[in-house]
Amino acid sequence: MPNVRNSLAPRARADLASMDLPELEAAIAAIGHPAYHARQVYSWIYRKGVTDFEQMTNLSRPLRADLDGPFRISTPRVVDKEVSEDGTVKFLLELDDGRQIESVFIPDTPSQTFCISTQVGCAMKCGFCLTGKMGLMRNLTAGEIAAQVRVLAKDLGLLASKFNIVLMGMGEPLHNYENTMKALRMLNDAQGLAVSPRRITLSTVGVVPALERLANEPLMPNLAISLHATTEDQRDALVPVNRKYGLADILEAARRFPAKRRNRITFEYVLLSGVNDTPEDARRLVRLLGDIRCKVNLIPLNEAAGINYRRPSDARVNAFAAILSKHGLTVSVRKSRGRDIRAACGQLIVEGKQKSAAQQAAALL
Ligand code: SAH
Repeated sequence: MPNVRNSLAPRARADLASMDLPELEAAIAAIGHPAYHARQVYSWIYRKGVTDFEQMTNLSRPLRADLDGPFRISTPRVVDKEVSEDGTVKFLLELDDGRQIESVFIPDTPSQTFCISTQVGCAMKCGFCLTGKMGLMRNLTAGEIAAQVRVLAKDLGLLASKFNIVLMGMGEPLHNYENTMKALRMLNDAQGLAVSPRRITLSTVGVVPALERLANEPLMPNLAISLHATTEDQRDALVPVNRKYGLADILEAARRFPAKRRNRITFEYVLLSGVNDTPEDARRLVRLLGDIRCKVNLIPLNEAAGINYRRPSDARVNAFAAILSKHGLTVSVRKSRGRDIRAACGQLIVEGKQKSAAQQAAALL
C-alpha cells in the first residue's frame, strides 16, 4: 500500500480505540500486516495507556509507520481535575468533537472505583438529578466509554491495579445499550485491562426491554436499578420514564433476572425529605421487594442549586433504613463522596459552551 503517513486529517482516520480486539485484528490485516499484532497494540493502549504509535517499541518500524497513516487512537483530553477533601477526584474530559463529560475516581471504598459516563447529558430528566437538566447531547461511543477508564487510571498511576467500575456517571447506560456493552467487552479483554464483570456495576433507571436483553448477555455486570419510589404516581413524578416503563414492570423484570448468574440486584433509592422518606414509604418498599433477592442502597439526596428537593436528616435516613432491615432487607446507606467538588451522584453536569445540536441550530437562525 502507498505510504499515506500523515496524509489524512486526524478525524478522517479510523479510530483504533473504538474497536474491540477482533475488529482491531481485521483492521491490521487489512493493511497487510499479521493480525496478531493487534494484541500488542491493544496492550499498549489499555495496559500502558500509550496512544502514540512511535512509542509502541515492540512493533517493527514499518508497522508503526503503516499504522500512523490510516489510524488514530482517540483519547479524551483531561481538561480539568478537582480533588475533594475525601480524596475523590472529578475529571472533566474533552472528546474529539469538543463535547465534555465528567468521570470520577472514588478511592478506598475500600476498593478503588471509577465512575464513568455513557452519554453526554441524559434524556431521563429525573427530578433530582443535575445531569438530567442538560438533556441528552449524544451517546458516547464504545471507545469513549472505555477510554475514561484508561485515561483516569493512567493519570492516577493505577493501570496495573485492581479496581471497580460503576456506570453511574452521566447518562443512562441502557439507553446506549450497544456501545455500553461493547465497552464492557473491551475493558474485559485479557489483552487489555481484563476487568472482571464482577467488578463492574451497571446502574439503570430501568429500561425494561433492555433489561430483558441484559439478562441474556454472556458478559453480565452487576445490576443496580434506580427505584426511588414505591407507587406508580410517586415514581411518575420523580422519574418521568416511569410512564413508559413502570414500577410494576421493572420489578417483574427484576424477578425474571437470572438469579444464578447475578445473585443479588441492588435497588437504589434516593431519599428526598418529605417526599419518599416516610415510614409508610419504607413499609411499602419492604412489600414491593419482599420476594426479590436484592439489596437496597439508600442515597440521601445530594443537594444542588436548581434541584427543588431537600436531603433528609441523618436521623430520618437511619429510621428509614431501620424499617427495611427490621423486615429482613439488606440495606446500606451510600456515603456521598466528593460532594464538596460536586462529584457526587446526580451532581455531574457540564456547564457553559455545551449546546445540543438543536440548540446550536436554533442559535444559527
Ligand atoms: N442513569 C443511571 C445512572 C445514574 S447515576 C440510573 O438512573 O441509575 C447513579 C444514581 O445516582 C442513580 O440512582 C441516580 O438516580 C442517583 N442520583 C441522581 N441524582 C442524585 C442526587 N442529586 N442525589 C443523590 N443521588 C442521585
